[in-house]
Amino acid sequence: MSEPILQVALPSPLRRLFDYRAPSGVAAEHLAVGQRVRVPFGRRDMVGLIAGLTETSQVPANKLKRVSELIDLAPVLPATLWQLCLWTSQYYQHGLGDTLASALPVLLRQGEAAAARQDIIWQLVPGAYPEHPAVARAPRQKQAIQTLSLHPHGLSHALISQWGLTRDTLETLERKRLAQRISQSQHHTNEPLPLLREAPLTANSEQAAALAKILPQLGPALITATDAEPEPAPATTGHFRAWLLEGVTGSGKTEVYLQSIQHCLQQGRQALVLIPEIGLTPQTVERFRQRFSVPVVILHSGLTDRERLDAWIAARDGEAGVVIGTRSAIFTPLARPGLIIVDEEHDLSYKQQDGLRYNARDVAVYRAHLEDTGIILGSATPSLESLHNVRRGRYQHLRLTLRAGDASPPRFQCLDIRSRPLEAGISRPLLEAMNAHLRQGNQVLVFINRRGFAPTLMCHDCGWIAECRRCDARMTVHQSPAHLHCHHCMSQRAVDRQCPDCGSEDLRPLGAGTERAEEYLASRLPKVPVLRIDRDTTTRKEALRDMLARIHSGEPCVLVGTQMLAKGHHFPNVTLVAILDADGGLFSADFRGPERMAQLITQVAGRAGRADKPGQVLIQTHMAEHPLLLDLTERGYGAIAERELAAREASRLPPFSFLALLRAEANQAALANQFLEEACAEAEALREHPGLAGVELLGPVPSPMERRAGRFRAQLLIQAEQRSTLHQLLHLWLPLLEQHPLARRVRWSLDVDPLDMF
Ligand code: ADP
Ligand code: ZN
Ligand code: ZN
Repeated sequence: MSEPILQVALPSPLRRLFDYRAPSGVAAEHLAVGQRVRVPFGRRDMVGLIAGLTETSQVPANKLKRVSELIDLAPVLPATLWQLCLWTSQYYQHGLGDTLASALPVLLRQGEAAAARQDIIWQLVPGAYPEHPAVARAPRQKQAIQTLSLHPHGLSHALISQWGLTRDTLETLERKRLAQRISQSQHHTNEPLPLLREAPLTANSEQAAALAKILPQLGPALITATDAEPEPAPATTGHFRAWLLEGVTGSGKTEVYLQSIQHCLQQGRQALVLIPEIGLTPQTVERFRQRFSVPVVILHSGLTDRERLDAWIAARDGEAGVVIGTRSAIFTPLARPGLIIVDEEHDLSYKQQDGLRYNARDVAVYRAHLEDTGIILGSATPSLESLHNVRRGRYQHLRLTLRAGDASPPRFQCLDIRSRPLEAGISRPLLEAMNAHLRQGNQVLVFINRRGFAPTLMCHDCGWIAECRRCDARMTVHQSPAHLHCHHCMSQRAVDRQCPDCGSEDLRPLGAGTERAEEYLASRLPKVPVLRIDRDTTTRKEALRDMLARIHSGEPCVLVGTQMLAKGHHFPNVTLVAILDADGGLFSADFRGPERMAQLITQVAGRAGRADKPGQVLIQTHMAEHPLLLDLTERGYGAIAERELAAREASRLPPFSFLALLRAEANQAALANQFLEEACAEAEALREHPGLAGVELLGPVPSPMERRAGRFRAQLLIQAEQRSTLHQLLHLWLPLLEQHPLARRVRWSLDVDPLDMF
C-alpha cells in the first residue's frame, strides 16, 4: 500500500479539508479519523483533526506537505461525538474544521494532551478532629475537618468546591498538619460513593406521573454484577425518547430533572444538563450540587482553560456524573451517556448568533438520537417548534400545571393606559398598586425591556433626534455616567448640549428605560430601596449577588429590571409584577414577535407569588382589547401558542416550513446587494434540479436596520416546505457561493433555522 494521505479538518472558514502526507515514522495502522495532528499552514503551524484517509490527492505530490506531528494516539473524541460534529457542520453548512474548533476546549485546539492530570485526594491526617485547638477560632477550617471526616477515603480535588471547601482552607489545614493531600491515579478511585447528599423531595402527583413516564425509558443499567468498572455503553437501540416537560414556573420541573438524573446515575450513566445562563442563576446550579455526591462538573465562563479541559476530560472519561453548562456544553463527550436535559428550551441563548450558528437545543435532540438516550426539554413557555413536535408525535408531552408547595398562580390584569399621563413610563394606577403591595410588606418587580435612561434624545424645538453615526438607529440616553450609547454597535458619545440643526438648548430625553424608572420610583417611594438589575448594574459579578441577597432577605423593595429578571429566579416575596410596555411585541415586524412577547410576559410573571403569597401581574398597554393580550391574560400561554401555531400554519411559516437566511454586509450598499443578487441567480438556476423547484427565494432586501456599525446589510431568505429540499439546495449552493469572486469582498453568512430575522 502506498503512503496514506490525510484529509485534515483545520479551523478555517473554508468549507473543505486539507490534504497532507502522513507524518514520517508513523505506520498507517496507527492513523485514524479523529486524531489531532499539527501541520504547517501558510507560514505557521496549525492543529487540526484527521477527517479522512485516502491514497490520492488533487494536490500534486511535490506540493503536498507533511504532517509535522501526530498529537494523539487515539481519536480525541468518542465516535458518537465525532458524528455529532460532522452532522452539525453539514446541517448548519459550516466548515468541519471550524465546527470541531467550536466543540473542543481551547487547550485541545492548541495541541495540549487530552489526558487527565493526576488527581489529588485530600484526606484528614489521622488524629485530626473538628474540636482540635488549632482550629478553635477558625470556623471554616473546623467545618472543613468535619466534611473531610465524612470522607474516610478522601475527597478528590474535583469535588472540594461541591462540598463547600476551598483550596485555601485545605492548604491552611495542611500547614497545620491536620490535612494532607495524596496523589492518586484515577483508576483507584472506584470505591462506590453514595449517590445522594440529600434525600429527594416526595414527588407530588403530577411530578410522579411525569417520572413514571420517564424513568422506565432511561435505558438498561450499565453496572455489572461485581459493581466494578462500568462497561462501555452497549450498542442497544430503542432508548431514544424526547419529552417536552411543560410546567408552569414553580411547578417543580427541576425536581423532575433531579430525580431523572438520579435514576440515570443509578444505571451507571451520566447526565448532561444545558441551562441558558449560569452567571444569572447560580442557585439553580447549586441545587444540582446539593443533591448529588458524585462529581457534578460545571462548565462556566469563570473557568481557566485548564479547568475547562479537566472538566471536559472528567466527562469524557466517565469521572463526572453530571455535567452542567450553557450552549457549547452540548459538545461535551460522555463515556456513558444516559440523559440530556435542556432547561428553558425556548430560550434564545441556545442559538449562537455568529460563526457556527447552531441551536444547542436542536443539536441536543440529534445527539440523544445518536447516543440512543432520553432527552427532556423543559419550559414553562415551550417554543412553537417543540409544541409542533408534540403534535406530530415526536415528543411526548408531560405537564405540570400546579405550583409545587401550594403556591397559587398569579392573577393577570391589563391596565389600559390610553390617554393616561405616564411619568417615566409609569401610570398613576400602577404607582398606587405598587404602594399598596409595599405597604403590606411585600416586594414589587417592574419589568422594562430597555436599559438606559431614555431610548431617544429629541430637540423640543425642531424635532431633531440624536442618531448613531454608524447605524440606522437612535442613541439611547444614559445618565450614570451621562452619555449617549448605541445599543447596536456600542459606540458612545457625549450628550449633545445644543441641537445641531436649530441651535436650541431644549433637548429632552423621550420615553423611559430602567434608569429613568429607577430614578422616578426612588423619588416617589422614598421609604423603600429601589434596586435596578440590568446589564449596566451587574457588570461586577458580586453586584448581582449582593442585590439578589437583599431581595432574598425579604424586606419590602422595588426591583426594576430588564429580561435578566425573567430568568430562573425565585423571588418568593414579590407579589406584584408590573410590565411597563407590552405593546412592542404586538407590532413586531418579526413573525416570532407574539410568541416572544407571550414567553417574556409569562416568564416575568412567573417570578411572582410563590409560596403562600398570591401574586398579581399588571400589564400596561394601549391595546387592552388586543386578542393576543386577552388570550394571554385570560387563558394563558397555551392559548397563545395554539393561536400562533394556527397562524403559522396558515401562512406556511416555521415550524410548517423551513428557512435559511443568507446575510451580507459591505462598506457600500451596492456591493452587499450585488453579491446577494448573484447568489440568488445561482440559486434560481439550482431550482432546475429535480425536486428543488419548490424552494422559494425571497429578496434580496435591505436588512430592517440597513446600516449597522458603518456597514450596509442586506439579506436573502430561502424557504422550503421540506427540510430535505432546503438542505439539498444549500448543499449545492454553498460551494458556489464560496467560490464567487464577490464572496471575498463582502462579509456574508448563512443562518439555517434563523431565530432572528434581522
Ligand atoms: P420550576 O423549575 O418548575 O420553576 P422548581 O423545581 O424550582 O420549579 O420548584 C419550585 C419550588 O417548589 C422549589 O422551591 C422547590 O423546592 C419546591 N418543590 C418542588 N417540588 C416539590 C415537591 N414535590 N414537594 C415540595 N416542594 C417542592
Ligand atoms: Zn432643534
Ligand atoms: Zn450604532
